[in-house]
Amino acid sequence: MPDSTPAKGACLCGAVSITADTMDTKVGACHCKMCRQWGGGPLMAVDCGTSVSFSGDENIAVFSSSKWAERGFCKQCGSHLFYRLKGSGQYIMPVGLFGDDERMVFDHQVFVDERPAYYCFANETRDMTGPEVFAMYGTPSD
Ligand SMILES: [Zn+2]
Ligand SMILES: [Zn+2]
Repeated sequence: MPDSTPAKGACLCGAVSITADTMDTKVGACHCKMCRQWGGGPLMAVDCGTSVSFSGDENIAVFSSSKWAERGFCKQCGSHLFYRLKGSGQYIMPVGLFGDDERMVFDHQVFVDERPAYYCFANETRDMTGPEVFAMYGTPSD
């Protein structure tokens, strides 16, 4: 079973459509404060690597949310389109933009130390705190 698949997606209004050449089928949730403030809840997302193209670019607004990453959204409908690392150009994209695919598995949760007490997911996943994430992927200043 392949870990990644080409995927097509779109924002809610259809002004932006997305082609990802390699979408990871392992879904992650980020509980960090920034993701929750951005979207109102944890960000459920998939790693789409660096090979992502858009049509309707003129409808995409990009917000620089930290020194190392930026977040894109549709100017027309507000759909969140991506979290993109400035250094590598890697895209982490909200899984809801893409069609449901039975191969997708809820696999991991990050920044579990920032998850508020009022919810938790029952799924068995690999869970990492913020410090564990930075230890694995490098600190943001790298
Ligand atoms: Zn839109
Ligand atoms: Zn986050």
